[in-house]
Amino acid sequence: MEKAIVVVDEIYGFLPGGALACGHSLEAVAATKALLENNPSIPALFICDHHPANHCSFAAQGGPWPPHCVAGTREGEIHDDLLPFVQEELTFYKGCDPAVEQYSGFEGRNTAGQSLSEVLQLLGTEVVYVVGIATEYCVRNTAEDLLKAGFKVTVLEDCLGWVDREGHKKTLPELAREGIRIK
Ligand SMILES: [Zn+2]
Repeated sequence: MEKAIVVVDEIYGFLPGGALACGHSLEAVAATKALLENNPSIPALFICDHHPANHCSFAAQGGPWPPHCVAGTREGEIHDDLLPFVQEELTFYKGCDPAVEQYSGFEGRNTAGQSLSEVLQLLGTEVVYVVGIATEYCVRNTAEDLLKAGFKVTVLEDCLGWVDREGHKKTLPELAREGIRIK
């Protein structure tokens, strides 16, 4: 069975010093790096939150979040330790439309305009390992959309960061009940 690893939002906006610094985020990056080093034959697809400065999810526009991961800033960049594994055609941007919140990376697009789901199909992927930040939002929504699209989905617990630890702990059994494997 063809496998793929999807790395969600391991970018500076969600790491210490970022506008939405998440718990366990540096640990998630370190664990993800080890995962990628140990599985060089599995394609790694990266998702990046990538907002215009007037995005609807920002407080100034009535959204729930402070400004974060604005396109062209350091906040939107993948952690340096993961850059050796990043390929442009396997990097997908979400939240680019000012009027649309997009927690899920499923419809994220690469610079060639292909969506994550299209590229996973092209790769012949059947099994997807989802890692990243944050469990309760972008990891959850990405994993759920992949499951709905027919992929076998495993979320790797050691490679997750969270907005709220309790929220993270509550989310994992909910995902398991939906049919997502937690490992
Ligand atoms: Zn965002």
